Amino acid sequence: MDVLISGASMAGLSAAYWFAHFGHQVTVIERSDGLRPGGAPIDVRGRAIGTAQRMGILAHIDAQKVRILEPAPVLDSTGAQVATLDLRWFANETDEDTEITRDRLNQILLAAIPKGVEFRFMTSIALIADGAAGVDVAFTDASTGHYDLVVGADGLHSNVRKLAFGPEKDYVRHFGHYVALVDLPNGREWQRGMLNVPGLTIAVRDAGDGPQGMMLVASGEVDYDYRDLNAQRRMIGDFLSRVDAWQVPALRAAFTDPAAKGFYFDSVSQTHMPRWTRGNVAVIGDAGHCAALLSGMGTTLAMVAAETLATTWTEYGGNMQAASPTYHERLRPYVDQCQAFAHEGAPIMVPPTQEALDARNATFRAYAAKFAG
Ligand SMILES: Cc1cc2nc3c(=O)[nH]c(=O)nc-3n(C[C@H](O)[C@H](O)[C@H](O)COP(=O)(O)OP(=O)(O)OC[C@H]3O[C@@H](n4cnc5c(N)ncnc54)[C@H](O)[C@@H]3O)c2cc1C
Repeated sequence: MDVLISGASMAGLSAAYWFAHFGHQVTVIERSDGLRPGGAPIDVRGRAIGTAQRMGILAHIDAQKVRILEPAPVLDSTGAQVATLDLRWFANETDEDTEITRDRLNQILLAAIPKGVEFRFMTSIALIADGAAGVDVAFTDASTGHYDLVVGADGLHSNVRKLAFGPEKDYVRHFGHYVALVDLPNGREWQRGMLNVPGLTIAVRDAGDGPQGMMLVASGEVDYDYRDLNAQRRMIGDFLSRVDAWQVPALRAAFTDPAAKGFYFDSVSQTHMPRWTRGNVAVIGDAGHCAALLSGMGTTLAMVAAETLATTWTEYGGNMQAASPTYHERLRPYVDQCQAFAHEGAPIMVPPTQEALDARNATFRAYAAKFAG
């Protein structure tokens, strides 16, 4: 049967693997001119470990994982060190949790995909007409196609979700924060560390392939065009202007440089949908059930949903309507559990008040004493 997948990142590449593995004819389209690079190291954990094992890629992921390095200083608004953060306190370097860069994971997923899958870059879906006999699709490059299933794996701002299920505002809930990432340029000695003021975290870490700047800020929803990079840079510049200490002015310059590599900015949001399928269209990954960056479960959910969808749809002979109840039964409890994790991440990563910040730092100091002893 013919399957069209929109989006070539963790969800889309995993889905391409599984649908092709079950013998279907798969086409993947991607808006960018290749796999979209960038991002901080992400976690493959929980049920995704089993998925990766069944895909035969767990050893590759393990071989390319990011090693968690020495503890980093935690700084106050003046740049003075007030605690130490050792990520090993929170990560459990066992088979249950592996951190790897987005780019490396996407390359591993791509390499695992069976031969015969067609990739078309720099294109997008313009129109979806779903009916009993399948889905007619018109693409932005003026070509057309007919498929038995269309899978939207095109991220938080999903185009497939918009076309088949309705506007973003009906499904995407702002989780009260924005995140920005940028690869930091050579020509300066970047100090690793994390500076906090209430509601704002600014960090420099080694992301596996060089130093990376990260900003996480508490903010209500801002009305801007999410594709307007200049608007994004202006917002980051405003957020970072609250701090003058440490290397924040240099970080601000890096974030607002239009030539900077690895630039990424988006809201920290969750996607909540009553159903992830409608007719012969399904949405997976951030498009259907984004858990928000603060959960650390987005990639895991994307990989697990891809396997669950392809397996269930195939079991039901390619009849999405018949497969839908089983698919939701299999996936919904795990999505709910993963989305709940995001509530735990926010107070640790971005304490909202000075009191919360002081308490968080005291916890870090207590951990440091406990693990040292
Ligand atoms: C550049 C980037 C950096 C990220 N950095 C982090 C990070 O540091 N930490 C973190 O937790 N999460 C990060 N994420 C999100 C993370 O990748 C996802 O939460 C998670 O892995 C689920 O993946 P996904 O495949 O559902 O979505 P995504 O990884 O967002 O992938 C969606 C894909 O769909 C493509 N696409 C979008 N619109 C269209 C369209 N109209 N037609 C065709 N293709 C389209 C995009 O180009 C992209 O390749 C990042 C995402 C991106 C795109």
